Amino acid sequence: MSDKNSITPLNVDEIYTFFTGKSDDELKKLASDLTLAVHGKDVLLRGLIEYSNYCTQDCLYCGIRAENDKITRYRLNEEQLLQLVNDGFAAGFRTFVLQGGEDPVFDVKTQCRIVEKIKTSTNGECAVTLSSGMLKRDELLQLKSAGADRYLLRFETSDEKNYSYLKCGESLSKRLGMLSDLKELDYQVGSGFMTGLPGETDEILIKNLQICSEFNFDMVGIGPFIPNPDTPLGNLTGENINIALKCVSMLRLALPFAHIPATTAAGSIDQTGREKMIEHGANVLMPNLTPVSVKANYLLYPGKICLDESGQQCVGCMSLRMKSIGRNISFNRGDALRLNH
Ligand code: SAH
Repeated sequence: MSDKNSITPLNVDEIYTFFTGKSDDELKKLASDLTLAVHGKDVLLRGLIEYSNYCTQDCLYCGIRAENDKITRYRLNEEQLLQLVNDGFAAGFRTFVLQGGEDPVFDVKTQCRIVEKIKTSTNGECAVTLSSGMLKRDELLQLKSAGADRYLLRFETSDEKNYSYLKCGESLSKRLGMLSDLKELDYQVGSGFMTGLPGETDEILIKNLQICSEFNFDMVGIGPFIPNPDTPLGNLTGENINIALKCVSMLRLALPFAHIPATTAAGSIDQTGREKMIEHGANVLMPNLTPVSVKANYLLYPGKICLDESGQQCVGCMSLRMKSIGRNISFNRGDALRLNH
């Protein structure tokens, strides 16, 4: 694989000129070559556990928003959660992503205890990623001290007005402020955005990519927005996957060393969407380890895939899918590559 010094990421100006001046095919080829040079043929697996769909927030796009009374709410208890981690660990996983709505029952004390227990029961061998929404700096510090390694928080869109509209008056600068806090507190930081949101323009997409580049995120997830009929944006029509694919390629060129997941949303609007994302520059997959009995209730958007499959079945399926495009799944921890150099 390539020496870090021989690779030059796109700078902020080049993000603009490449986005506006190169064809999708050119971008795909450049990104695909770069991905193979930096990350090889391995696609990293992260075990995703959706621990709760209770949420105090009312984001207009999201199926688990507080006001949606059409879904059945659930939360895993600590024992169930640890059991999932232990089963996943035995199956080979070395990274777990705990994601949920902003659920007051999973307060910071509880999250700290869970992180500590995961670390102890896996001999400190696995990386824990949290994705539980907005937290204060001192709470992030407590979680870091408890052993959390990574945090995932998408900024969703770089357009301040749109952000505030989509998130009921919340401010983008607060979200970006938390991402800065995470960096300062030495987390491996993941972020990202949706493509195809209402009001989206090329300028906004370019700004999204520039923000990712300026923050130098360790992980970036991009997913196509999929309108959910049980939300205020339910009447919109979703886009196809092409813009998301273009953004993945651009992101790879801007952040050669970042971990970029082929997202579930991509696989949900296009049967081979995840394979396409890998071929456009992604290098991570996130099998869903949430128990089948509750999985269908973490319904951010309709058409979500793999709802009747166990985590193990997901791994088998992903392995075959990756083989079909000449890649191999890998259970490596997949720490941020900047930490290895
Ligand atoms: N509460 C956490 C996790 C949110 S769900 C947080 O705020 O970070 C994870 C991601 O799903 C969101 O960040 C959003 O980008 C994506 N998502 C939500 N609704 C969606 C939809 N309708 N279509 C596509 N992606 C969606």
